[in-house]
Amino acid sequence: MEILQFLGRFLNTLFPEKCVICKKGLNAICDDCKEKIIPITWQCLKCGYPSKKNHVPFCENCLLEEVVPDLIISLFTYEKISPVIINLKEKGSLKAKKALKELLEKYLPKKLEIMDYLSPAETVLTRVPNHPLKVLKRGNDHTLEIAKMISKLTGYRFVDGIITKEKLTPSQKGLTREERIKSIKDSFSCKTKIPFKNLIIVDDVITTMATVNEVSKKVKNLNPHVRIIAITIARATVK
Ligand SMILES: [Zn+2]
Ligand SMILES: [Zn+2]
Repeated sequence: MEILQFLGRFLNTLFPEKCVICKKGLNAICDDCKEKIIPITWQCLKCGYPSKKNHVPFCENCLLEEVVPDLIISLFTYEKISPVIINLKEKGSLKAKKALKELLEKYLPKKLEIMDYLSPAETVLTRVPNHPLKVLKRGNDHTLEIAKMISKLTGYRFVDGIITKEKLTPSQKGLTREERIKSIKDSFSCKTKIPFKNLIIVDDVITTMATVNEVSKKVKNLNPHVRIIAITIARATVK
């Protein structure tokens, strides 16, 4: 083990690890970039959209869009954290994984204080799944990685497979809100009866809520009693 540690330090001296965001600073994420990624402090207590000050019970966004989960919590605005998510999703980058782990350790516990009343005995955590063919193509399964990290940090039990991805859907990039809703409709299913009060659904990013609404509908169809809390790493705030 000591030899491995020594070898790791030796290699790190020869080829220092460069920051996943600025590609200049040292470590998986450098101190400068870590400081610049500011979590969403105040939010809407329904849809999770950032608010200017204090939490608000609902917001303009809730009036404009359907919000199926009972609560959405996103940690960061997408603009700041996108290199970490893209590298993790598209390349399965270990450096991005390490950077994300550091960010979650630093910011997640404080952020989740708004859902502190969820008893671990009555709560399970699952994730928005990727289609098996997409996982095969990318060579990694990023929402699985993110869900495992959040489960480990929070202590909520991770149960995979509560939601399954039935249909392969094209990339949502560049689609309008209506197109996204149409494209994703009935592409997920939930066949699991959940004997718990609360279900946490983890995903990487919320852009239009099309995905998070669709999976929540499928869960609620079979489990109308279950309270759904969606947790995502990022929230796109520029539409
Ligand atoms: Zn950096
Ligand atoms: Zn809202």
